[in-house]
Amino acid sequence: MNAPDPGLVLTLDADGWIREAERLPSPNFDRRPEGMPTDLLVVHNISLPPGQFGGDEIAAFFQNRLDHDAHPFFDEIRGVQVSSHFLVRRDGALQQFVSCDARAWHAGASSFEGRTRCNDFSIGVELEGTDDVPFTAAQYVTLAALTRALREHYPIQTVAGHADIAPGRKTDPGPYFEWQRLRRMAALNPEALPFQPAE
Ligand SMILES: [Zn+2]
Repeated sequence: MNAPDPGLVLTLDADGWIREAERLPSPNFDRRPEGMPTDLLVVHNISLPPGQFGGDEIAAFFQNRLDHDAHPFFDEIRGVQVSSHFLVRRDGALQQFVSCDARAWHAGASSFEGRTRCNDFSIGVELEGTDDVPFTAAQYVTLAALTRALREHYPIQTVAGHADIAPGRKTDPGPYFEWQRLRRMAALNPEALPFQPAE
C-alpha cells in the first residue's frame, strides 16, 4: 500500500466494517451488552515479536493461528485469546479483525470513569509499534481518518490509551504517541482527550 493521502476518507458499512480495510476475521469477540452505547476509542500498540515490525504475526495472534513454538515470546502468550477491532501497520495500511458492532477482546481488566469492562463500550485500535519508538506519519493519517469515520457512526466521546484505562498493568500506546497530533488531524475537541493536558 502506498503512503495514505492526508485527505484519506474511510467509510463504515452497515455491519460495522470499514470498507477500505483488509478484512481478517478473528473469533475473539462476542456480543456487546444490549443497549450500551459505544462511546470510547482505545489506542494501543503491539509488535510481534516485540520490537519487530512488518510480519504477519499480529494478525496470526488475533486469529488464533500464531505458531507459538516459533519464538520464546510466542510461547509466553500461548492460549491467550485477544483481538482488537483494528490494526494500523507501520505503512498506514489498515486491517480489521472484528466488527465495530461486536465486543472485541482488546482491553482486558479496565476501568473508565467508574465503568469497568471497557470492552463493553469501546472500539480498540492497535498501532504496530512499541513504547520506545515514534509512530509513523502514515499511521497518524490512517488513525485520524479511522477516528473520523467511527465518530460518524458511533457516539464516541473520548479517545484514551490502554494505559489510561488499565494503569499499572498496561503502558501502551506509550510516551511516543502524539495525542495532540491525533486531536488536530481528527478534529477532536480537547474534551475528547481527558487524560491529556491541554495544549
Ligand atoms: Zn493495549
